[in-house]
Amino acid sequence: MSNPTLLILPGDGIGPEVMAEVRKIITWYGANRDLAFDVSEDLVGGAAYDAHGTPLHDDTMAKAQEADAVLLGAVGGPKYDSLDFSVKPERGLLRLRKEMDLYANLRPAQCFDALADFSSLKKNVVAGLDIMIIRELTSGVYFGEPRGIFKEGNERVGINTQRYTESEIERVARSGFEMARKRGNKLCSMEKANVMESGVLWREVVQRIGDTEYPDVELSHMYADAGAMQLTRWPKQFDVIVTDNLFGDLLSDLAAMLTGSLGMLPSASLGAPMANGRPKALYEPVHGSAPDIAGQGKANPIACILSFAMALRYSFDQGDEATRLEKAVEKVLADGYRTADLLGEEGRSPVSTAEMGDAVVKALDASLG
Ligand code: NAD
Repeated sequence: MSNPTLLILPGDGIGPEVMAEVRKIITWYGANRDLAFDVSEDLVGGAAYDAHGTPLHDDTMAKAQEADAVLLGAVGGPKYDSLDFSVKPERGLLRLRKEMDLYANLRPAQCFDALADFSSLKKNVVAGLDIMIIRELTSGVYFGEPRGIFKEGNERVGINTQRYTESEIERVARSGFEMARKRGNKLCSMEKANVMESGVLWREVVQRIGDTEYPDVELSHMYADAGAMQLTRWPKQFDVIVTDNLFGDLLSDLAAMLTGSLGMLPSASLGAPMANGRPKALYEPVHGSAPDIAGQGKANPIACILSFAMALRYSFDQGDEATRLEKAVEKVLADGYRTADLLGEEGRSPVSTAEMGDAVVKALDASLG
């Protein structure tokens, strides 16, 4: 059988630096776990604009559609700020998400014990935290029509439209229930059914999918504003949360930051299954291209490494190997390795991007016993 294919798009700024460390991990799995990937690499964002005058070449888009998974670093940077909106680096990423129809955005919020002091919340509130937020990514108020700024009488009016079809709610609800089954079997759906018709429909559809297809999963509903309060009060009450595009945007950022640095946060965006049964998938760290530290060996590669762990789990059915990689990261942190972003006010000297990657590889070696 041929190896699974992985398309790597390092992008701009610290993207190539953190991706170089993920390359070491991929090589390790090929050499030690009989888990080899056919890896190809291409350009996205500003790097693609420099080479082709477009932030995503059609050939690259076609490769992404065919790959078993896409792993992206980050795009953007001050050099490209004055470009026309249509060719800005971020458009490359948006095109990937749109044309691959990646409707479920998975954002884990997991607190490693060694970093519990780093949270803005009390240690006992966040230590051991492990929740997953699934945000609907391709519909809702960011896409609904009509939209725009219009003249109404003698003043202007800004309009955006929250719009969800039943099938759009059904498919992301199923993503939520499937995820809950793989974890603690608990799903909380969040909307504003008290004031929005789209929320009423959202609640009805999620409940119906739960009753008919996932009666074994414990389902609850919460208004999104109450959800925000509960996430900061006692986040460990949640396992999986499913919510719409707008509320998910806010709630996933809130939940993720409970756990500390931007340099630690992975994400996955999944679409419908392909012919081989794997979902269309794009994995990327939550952070951007960090131009302030690019090229200095200061970037924390863990967010990108943990994004690859998500690929192992959700694209390649290698949950045990994903856990092995997450535990290797945990060990490295417990052993005191810290890139600059994880040191705060502490007076210790940080490790470099490459030293952090090497430490994770060493911890993987140690995991073999
Ligand atoms: P950013 O995430 O790049 O950086 C915010 C802050 O966090 C910076 O101080 C940076 O040094 C730090 N940081 C981020 N990742 C880090 C890491 N791995 N290790 C250590 N420190 C890290 O956000 P920004 O500064 O608002 O944006 C910079 C550029 O990135 C902009 O062009 C923006 O459009 C783009 N951007 C891209 C993405 C993406 O590719 N998905 C996401 C957000 C921003």
